[in-house]
Amino acid sequence: MSLWSLKNIPKTLSFRLTLWYFVIFSLSSLVLFGLTYIFLYSSLREYDRNMIQTKLEEFSILYETGGIEDIEKDATAEADKKDPFLVRLASDKNETLFVNLPPNFSGFDLNELEKIDLSNDEKLIILQSKTNKTTFEIATTELLDGNILQVGKSNMERERILNHFREIFTIVIFALIMLGFGGGTFFAIRALRPIRNLTQTVQSIVTGKMGAHVPIPRTGDELDELVRLFNEMLEKIESLITGMKSSLDNVAHDLRTPMARLRAEAEIALQSCEDINLYKEALIECVEESDQILRMLNTLMDISEAETGTMKLDLKVVDFSKIIDETIELYLYLAEEKNIKIEKNTTENLFLMVDPNRIKQVIANLLDNAIKYTPSGGMVHLKAYMGEENVILEVMDTGIGISPEDLPKIWDRLFRGDKSRAQRGLGLGLSLVKAIVEAHGGRTEVKSEPHKGSTFIIHLPSYNRTSLHNI
Ligand code: ADP
Repeated sequence: MSLWSLKNIPKTLSFRLTLWYFVIFSLSSLVLFGLTYIFLYSSLREYDRNMIQTKLEEFSILYETGGIEDIEKDATAEADKKDPFLVRLASDKNETLFVNLPPNFSGFDLNELEKIDLSNDEKLIILQSKTNKTTFEIATTELLDGNILQVGKSNMERERILNHFREIFTIVIFALIMLGFGGGTFFAIRALRPIRNLTQTVQSIVTGKMGAHVPIPRTGDELDELVRLFNEMLEKIESLITGMKSSLDNVAHDLRTPMARLRAEAEIALQSCEDINLYKEALIECVEESDQILRMLNTLMDISEAETGTMKLDLKVVDFSKIIDETIELYLYLAEEKNIKIEKNTTENLFLMVDPNRIKQVIANLLDNAIKYTPSGGMVHLKAYMGEENVILEVMDTGIGISPEDLPKIWDRLFRGDKSRAQRGLGLGLSLVKAIVEAHGGRTEVKSEPHKGSTFIIHLPSYNRTSLHNI
C-alpha cells in the first residue's frame, strides 16, 4: 500500500463508519456494565445491612433471654463462620463489657467505637480500617437494662465479590471492544460494497468499457435503489449512444447514394462531347440530387432541434379546423390524381396555442403518408375533436397498413418499411411529426392492421378559452 493511501485511510468512509460503530458499540457496552455494577454494588450493600439488622435482633433476643453468657457463646461461634459478625456489648456509658473481634476485622480500632457518642441516635456507624481499605458497618440497639448491643460486618466479602465482577468485566469489555472493532469493520465493508462496485463500474466506463453494470446487492435498501437507478441510467445512455451511432450510420449511408448519383451525373456530363443540352440535363439532375440531400439534412436538423428543445416555435392561438382545411387543400390534387377520397370531420372551436407552420408540417406529413400508402380508390379520413384533456387529430386511411414488427420502428429516424421502398421518401417524416408534436407538449399514437389501413393519432394541449378572451 502506498504512503498516500495509508495517509488517506482516516478520510475514507469505511474507516469513519468503522470508527463510529466501534465508539457507539464500546460506549453502550461500558454504560451497560457501569449500570450493572452500580446495581450489584447497591444490592450487596443492602443485603449486608439487612443481615446486620437481623443479627442485631437475634442477639438482642438472646441477651434478653439468656444474658451475657449466651451472647458470648454465640458470638465466639461467629469466628468460625465464613463472613463472621462483630458483636459488642457495652454499658450505657459505652464501656465495652464484651466484644468478639473476628479475623476479617483487621485494622479495626475499638477505641474509635468507644469514643462515639451513642446518644446521637445514629442508625449505622461506618468505620475505616487503620491498615487497609476495608470498611466496617456497625448497627446499634439499646437493650432493656440500658446496656448497648452492637453488631457489625466488614465489607471484605462484598469487595471480594465486586472485585471478581470487575475482573470478569475487564475481560468481557476487552472482548466486546475487539468484537466491536471487528464487527464495525465487517459491517462497514459490507455496507459499502455497492458503493465500491459503483466506483469500479464508473472507473471502467471512464476507461472506455461501455456496457459495464453494477451488480445489484438485492438488500432492498436505499443503496439497492441507487444501484438499480444507476444501471437504468447506464442502459439509457447506452441505448442513446447506440441510437446516435446507428442514426449517424444511417445518415452516412443515406447520403452516400444521392452523393454518388450527383457525382456520376457530373462525371457523365464532363465525359460527353460538348452538347449543351446534355450539360443542362446533367445540371438539372445535380440540382435535384442536391435538393434531396439538403431536404434530408434540413429535416434531420429540424428533428434534432425539436427533440433538444432548441426549435424556435412561433406560438399563436389558432383555429385547428382552419389549419387542417388549409393543409388538405394542398393535397387535393395529389389525392384526386390517385383517385383517393379525402374526408374531413372536425368539431368547431378547437383552439390551440401552437406554431401554425410546424403543425401544418405535421398534418402534411401524415396526410402525405396516408395518400402515399393507400392504393388507388381508397379513402383518407381526418377527424379532429376535443378529448378529455387534449385536442385530438386522427388521420385514418384504408391503405397497406403496417406490420406489427415494423410498428414500433416507424418513428425512428431514417426507418422505411420494406413495402414502402417503392415510394418516394426519406424515412424522416414520422420522426419529424413526433418531434414537433412533443415539442408542443403533445404525444403521438398509431394503430394499424396490414392490408386494412392505419390510424395516426396526435394529442395536442388545448388552449384555455378564458385566456382567449383576454387576447
Ligand atoms: P417515409 O414515408 O418517407 O418512408 P416516414 O417516416 O413518413 O418515412 O414513415 C416511416 C415508415 O412508416 C414508412 O416507410 C412506412 O413503412 C410506414 N408508414 C408511415 N405512414 C404509413 C401509412 N399511412 N400507412 C402505411 N405505412 C405507413
